[in-house]
Order: sequence, then structure tokens, then C-alpha cells
Amino acid sequence: MSTLLEPTFDWLDRNLLRSPAARLWIARHLTPGFISLLQASKFRRLVRYAARHSKFYREAFRQHGIDPKRVRCHADLGNFFTTPEDLKTHPIEDFLCAPGECGFETTGTSMGINKRVYFSYQEMFDYGRDGAAGLYNLGMRRGDVVLDGFDYSFWNAPFTAYYSLMPLRCLHVIGGFIEPQELYDRMKVYRPNVLLGVPTHMVRVTEVAEKNGAWPMKFMLLGGENLSERTRKYLESVWRGARVYLSYGQTENFGITGIECPEKGGYHVSGLSLVSEIIEPDENGYGEMAYSTLNRKVMPLIRYRSADITRWADNGTCTCGLKVMPRLDKVVGRTDELINCSMGNISPYWFEEILRDITAVSGDWQVIVRRGDRDDAIEMNLEPVNGANPQAIREQVLANIQARFPDCWRYYTKGFFALDIKFHPRHSLAGDGRKLRRLIDARRDAWNK
Ligand SMILES: [Zn+2]
Repeated sequence: MSTLLEPTFDWLDRNLLRSPAARLWIARHLTPGFISLLQASKFRRLVRYAARHSKFYREAFRQHGIDPKRVRCHADLGNFFTTPEDLKTHPIEDFLCAPGECGFETTGTSMGINKRVYFSYQEMFDYGRDGAAGLYNLGMRRGDVVLDGFDYSFWNAPFTAYYSLMPLRCLHVIGGFIEPQELYDRMKVYRPNVLLGVPTHMVRVTEVAEKNGAWPMKFMLLGGENLSERTRKYLESVWRGARVYLSYGQTENFGITGIECPEKGGYHVSGLSLVSEIIEPDENGYGEMAYSTLNRKVMPLIRYRSADITRWADNGTCTCGLKVMPRLDKVVGRTDELINCSMGNISPYWFEEILRDITAVSGDWQVIVRRGDRDDAIEMNLEPVNGANPQAIREQVLANIQARFPDCWRYYTKGFFALDIKFHPRHSLAGDGRKLRRLIDARRDAWNK
């Protein structure tokens, strides 16, 4: 039965459920049982398809003693994962099951080799239909005017926006990743009521709007970086009526792993396009997220380690109707960003929490872990705003560590690590870079020995 179920559903989905409203209605009325049946069928097909067409998976399965015909779920793959390192060290041709039509590279903190990911136009179109349903769920409608400020260079985000907006048929103005003042000046005449972009860039644009005049905004959907709650509040305070949402994804998955629930309690993940899993969760449920892409023919990924650390959110509070789509909680860090030092096992999330309500510093900050005299020295680089008093900022940072990270505070009072807070002029930390590297481990750096 399930062999017929999948192509039938896909045909219905592509041909009859063209409008985002209809897809959303269907998504809200699917039963968990139906989703898991369809997911299982798609996953079995994916594993066999990849084993047949991709050299990487054929060889990896052989090395791990995996018989593709017997694989029914992630657990059947034992300790096999596809890793970001695999994407960097194998030629992309080893992953390709069909010729690519669009190629992108991953951004991020990794230096040197960028991971490449290829898609077909059909795949981007399919992702876009999911994205459109997610945008519809957030309240986007045909009459809206949308402006995006995404950078095109090797990155998929502007295409994710393009394909997701296409089924909604609203006016889409492509501003691109240009100087904030110019973007503001030029977008003003369109009066967009929805803004899409990267948090750091949109904060700059919002600062310009704060000085020169903002207008009512329906919502902002940001992606590509984490968004702290204080930055969210700032954006919502400048653009009247704006709700600020974050999308969650990575280039490997065309930027659409999940779209934030209108309740802001996490990201809904579609079980019809992904199989997802949290690897070895800790006592609070946090672990690395891994996923398999269910609908791709060019470069499908099987049990791919995302390097993002998150957990499943409680779905009980969600009233948006997508209850059957599980929600991922906020991403608290990346496995390659976690630093074990005498302050604890720290991630950027820690410092977001410490700085959350300190309005005397900007949202741009950077922490460097250095080798101290005896133990580690944590260097916090902050940008005070509007002539704030450095001593008051220092006291507030310490008070927040004491209140929010008691273990860490104990280590600090015992002198296990030194905390050095440095102040910089506004906008000097991020420079022109697209992403500010939040956390740097400089202890292995030869210059610091
Ligand atoms: Zn929801």
C-alpha cells in the first residue's frame, strides 16, 4: 500500500495543493499516523536511491556493513552519520545522484574550505512551497510588499526567499545586501510591510529607520544567524506593529529546516520533507540535530549532522495549528562553537543570556578565550551605546552571571578564570563582515603561547 501512497500524495501535493492556504490547511489536518507512514516510505526509498546513485553512500554503507534494503529508520543506520567533514573532504561528484542546476556554498565560522551543495530547480520550487505555507502561517498575504536584503554571493538565502514568495504572489522587492543607509533610502518608496534579511544587517537598517522614520510593519523574518531576544525587542520597538521571527535552516537544507511558530516557541519541522533526530541528548534534552532530506534527487543527505545544538520544544503551547509538525527549540550553539574552558562548556548562547537585558551595550559582541596566567582568561569585547558608563556595565555583567549561571559564578569567585571586559566604539567589532564570529578559542593560537 505504502508504495502507492507516496507517489499519489506527491502528485496531489504538486498538482492540486498549489495555494499556500490549501497546503497549510492540509498540513493542519494530517494525522501523526499518516505523516509517519509517509515519512517511513520516503525514507526507505531515499536510502535505496542514494545507495544506487551516489558513490559516497554506496561506499559508506558497504564500509559500515549496512544493507540499504534493510534500512527503515535512522536507528537502522547504527553509528553511521554524514558529517560536514564528509562534504569537505569528498569530491561533490561522490554525493551527486543527478546533475545539479544551482550550486551554493555554506557560510559560517569554518575557515578555508566551504561546503558545496547542489540543487535542481524542481527541488528549490518544492522547498519554496513549504516556505510559502510557513510564511502564510506567519500571516503573509497576497497584498503584502516584501523587501529582502539577502546577500547573493554563493548563498542560497535569496533563492529561498524567491521560491517561497512565488506561490504567495505578493510584491517582492529585492534590495540585496547593500549599505544600510542606501537600502533604507531606496526601500522607503515601496513602503514594504514585511522585511527579510540577516539580523546584523537588519539591525543596521533599523538604526537608520529609527533616526529617519519608520513605518508600520507586519513582520520581519530573519535568518542566517541567531537572534537574541533583546535584538528582537529592539527591532519590534522601532517598526511599529512588527512581529520579528527567525527561520532556522542551513544551506545543506536550502535554508528551510523549520519556520518559527507564530507563538515564537520554536521552529516547526515538516516530517514530510525531513527525518530529524537529536543525537545523544543531555539531561535537559539538548543534543546535536541530525536529519535526512526526503524529497531530493540531486544531492540527498542521509542522517546529516547539522552541528546545531538544540532540543525538542514542548508542542503543548502551540496554537498555530501545526501541532502535528514537531517543534525544535532555539538553537543554543554549534558543536564547532562550543568551547570547553575554565568558565564552563560555553557557547554563544551563554553570552546572549548574560547580555540579554543590558541595554547599555549594542548587540555586537565577541568573546575570546585566551590562555591566562594560570587558568583561562575570558575576554568580553563590548560596544557601549550612547555614552554608557563602563563600570555600570561591568557590574551588570557580573550580576547576570551570578543570577543566571551559578556554577560559573562559583568558578569566578574562586578565581578559576579571569574576566576581562573591553570596550570598543560602536560598529567596530562587526566591521563589514556578514557574520560576527561570537566566540573564539585563541588558546591554541601560536601568538598566545
Ligand atoms: Zn505552532
